[in-house]
Amino acid sequence: MIKINRPTCPNEKALASGNYKHPENKKALSEASNDKCMYCESKISHIDFGHVEHIKPKAEDKYPELTCEWSNLGYVCPKCNNKKSDKYHQDQPYIDPYSECPADHLYALGWLILQKNGSERGEITIRDIDLNRVELIEKRQTRIMEIQKAMDACYRTQNKTLRDAAIKQLHAESSPDKEYSLFVKSMLDTHSGQTSSI
Ligand SMILES: [Zn+2]
Repeated sequence: MIKINRPTCPNEKALASGNYKHPENKKALSEASNDKCMYCESKISHIDFGHVEHIKPKAEDKYPELTCEWSNLGYVCPKCNNKKSDKYHQDQPYIDPYSECPADHLYALGWLILQKNGSERGEITIRDIDLNRVELIEKRQTRIMEIQKAMDACYRTQNKTLRDAAIKQLHAESSPDKEYSLFVKSMLDTHSGQTSSI
């Protein structure tokens, strides 16, 4: 999970009329997160259509008044949405990457995401949305091993042009538009002293 800047709502009329999944609004949310799920950073559109979902559940007994509230909508993959379902803890709300900095609560260790500094909200978010589920760990491992290969190429080449290209490639792979960028960035930060000195 990484910080996402919430875009302005392009079609407030549709939202006000109850259509919280209007294509224009969905597109804005999708673009804001680079087509990635707000929780797990998986790219959505090539495996699914992607969903505009409610951060606080719209269920009758929860927050029905927030059904068409722009600040309560996010771009979520079906699996995270399914895990989250209508769960919500008023005292310990899930980390909302649109309105706060996930890095205050969560960090990447290898291919795992863990809570930081004893954050209960971080722990509950990871647990309820199952952010270390098997398929996510497998995908993160694949990404990290790709980066490892590129990093090896950095260290092993004596050709400056090739080395510079490899370093550039490494840093581009941690940009927010890439899948699982939190994990790639964490890995690169671990090695940053070494890669920058090459
Ligand atoms: Zn997800």
